[in-house]
Amino acid sequence: MNKKTYLFQSEIKQLLNLMINSLYSNKEIFLRELISNSCDALDKLKFYYLNFNNLSNNNEYCIKISIDDNILTVSDNGIGMTKEEVINNLGTIAKSGTKEFLKNFGDKLGNSESNIIGQFGVGFYSSFMVSDKVLVHTRSVKCKENDSVLWESDGQGKYIISNKDKSFIGTDVILYIKNECKEYLNKDVIINIIKKYSNYVSFPIKYRILYKGSNNFIWKKINISDALWTKSKNNISDKEYIEFYKSLVSNLGSPLIWSHNKVEGKNEYTSLLYIPDTAPWNIWNRDEYKNGVKLYIRKVFIMEGISKIIPFYLRFVQGIIDSNYLSLNISREILQESNFINKLYLSITKIILKMLIKLSKNTVKYNIFWKNFGNIFKEGLAEDESNRYNISLLLRFSTTFYNNKNEYTSLEDYLNRMNVGQDKIYYIISDNYLSCINSPHLEIYKKKKIEVLLMYEKIDEWMMIYLNDFKGIKLVSINKNDSNDTKIVSLKKSNLYSLNKDCFSNLIKRIKFILGDLVKDVKLTDKLDNYPVVVTTSSGEMSTQMLKLLTSVGKKVPKIKYLLEINCNHILIKYINSIIDDNLFKKWIYYLYYQALLIEMNTLENPVEFINLSNNLISKFLIK
Ligand code: ADP
Ligand code: MG
Repeated sequence: MNKKTYLFQSEIKQLLNLMINSLYSNKEIFLRELISNSCDALDKLKFYYLNFNNLSNNNEYCIKISIDDNILTVSDNGIGMTKEEVINNLGTIAKSGTKEFLKNFGDKLGNSESNIIGQFGVGFYSSFMVSDKVLVHTRSVKCKENDSVLWESDGQGKYIISNKDKSFIGTDVILYIKNECKEYLNKDVIINIIKKYSNYVSFPIKYRILYKGSNNFIWKKINISDALWTKSKNNISDKEYIEFYKSLVSNLGSPLIWSHNKVEGKNEYTSLLYIPDTAPWNIWNRDEYKNGVKLYIRKVFIMEGISKIIPFYLRFVQGIIDSNYLSLNISREILQESNFINKLYLSITKIILKMLIKLSKNTVKYNIFWKNFGNIFKEGLAEDESNRYNISLLLRFSTTFYNNKNEYTSLEDYLNRMNVGQDKIYYIISDNYLSCINSPHLEIYKKKKIEVLLMYEKIDEWMMIYLNDFKGIKLVSINKNDSNDTKIVSLKKSNLYSLNKDCFSNLIKRIKFILGDLVKDVKLTDKLDNYPVVVTTSSGEMSTQMLKLLTSVGKKVPKIKYLLEINCNHILIKYINSIIDDNLFKKWIYYLYYQALLIEMNTLENPVEFINLSNNLISKFLIK
């Protein structure tokens, strides 16, 4: 038998060296690479029969994987290679991309810190990461049985070529697995790798298993081999879409809606994206959570959770993007920076927002979405300025109109319900639904039948920084004492003046004297009904919720000095105004001040003091 030894082209030597010597964490991709090569070979054979030959192939095109002792074999009945092709394809690097890769990263790869290779598809040679020796036994469709070729190398700079008969057209890649890579001789490990990377390649991948109770083998298909997203929409049933979703994500319920798009043209790609009805448990972990979009290149899984592929506020989306445009051996670094990814980002964002607009027409489903992901989606107002309007169309709020925590309104519906002459959208921010709906700030609005949006999520105060108006109508917080324009609060200036002057100016003075620096100012108000006092800030100042937000993330923020507003029609205020004893008066003022603080902040720095004060004042009445 004529054996001949050849030397690898110098670039290959370099590549092999890097591959074998680098501490490379993602060795498993060798299998993805070999399977991809087999798929290419099968595609080529199909094409060959179609175009160059009238012969048809009766065999089923497939890839077979088997394990014997320390040998892992990947076989295909694809086009195979002639001797010249073997020398050209496996002994030299023709692709400029790989050469470029070596030029750019070669130096860095030698040392152990580098993981760059892990993000690359480096083709056939990656098999040397896990093998001591690799054999390629191949017979080209153009060759006879006895023209078949055996290629053999230990990856050390040389390879040997000889003749060895092969009865079928196609290629067997035979890997002598290294001692330290024994896991790749485990059936389950291999099957998992195949499912991870090659589940949707166009050809069946079969694994050899022993037939029960005999020494015979059967071949069992282990991949789905049918990439749903490549089919035409009209030929896919809802059931198939849902099943595919479930195969893609585990434990994430069912999809609320999906969108399947093919984008033609230079940057051609297909996307199949879903909105889940359940949130992943770690979605609030901003540092660790990655979006659920998987990137495929020609049906081969490349990576998932690429941050630049979709905006962070849409990170709940699950699905796939498959591109024919990118090449398999693109690195994460290159990918992240590529123009293609930038374009993808914009068009995928558009698709998702459109899908949400469609979902919003179904109130029941949209409510599920909103409960699960509303607070994440709100981040978009800050993150995605160019889509701010579309995002604001999709926002939902509790409202005094429904008086029900679980019924939401859109801003558009609010506008449609606005009173004649009303020129602002009013909202209130507090800690929770109940403290919103019972807030003294709301009294005047309730009385005047003006709808107020109720905001009680942590993110709301911050979100509203980015939402000043909707369709030209300003949004104003009624927590602020300067939001109450004259249309809402009807007390006439002259009235206030005379009240103030006549009987309460002295009261105000006394209160100011007692509270001193604790408050910014003390004023009369007529927006209250059932409450004697309320504290407020004005729009330029730090609000209570913002202070809480900042404090919760560890920021040191000075205490707020509130404006104390007094309802002079309230029986308590009238009573207090008549108290002459300074000591008793002081107690009542502190009592009212703490009460107003409690309502505003939902908490007090010193609740015991407040309770003691209250008990003290109540007991005085009892003793009387
Ligand atoms: P790439 O697949 O990107 O071209 P590879 O290093 O993976 O680079 O493979 C080099 C070449 O070897 C392929 O282009 C192909 O021509 C040939 N080849 C590899 N595996 C097979 C196979 N199973 N059948 C036929 N040809 C193959
Ligand atoms: Mg390849």
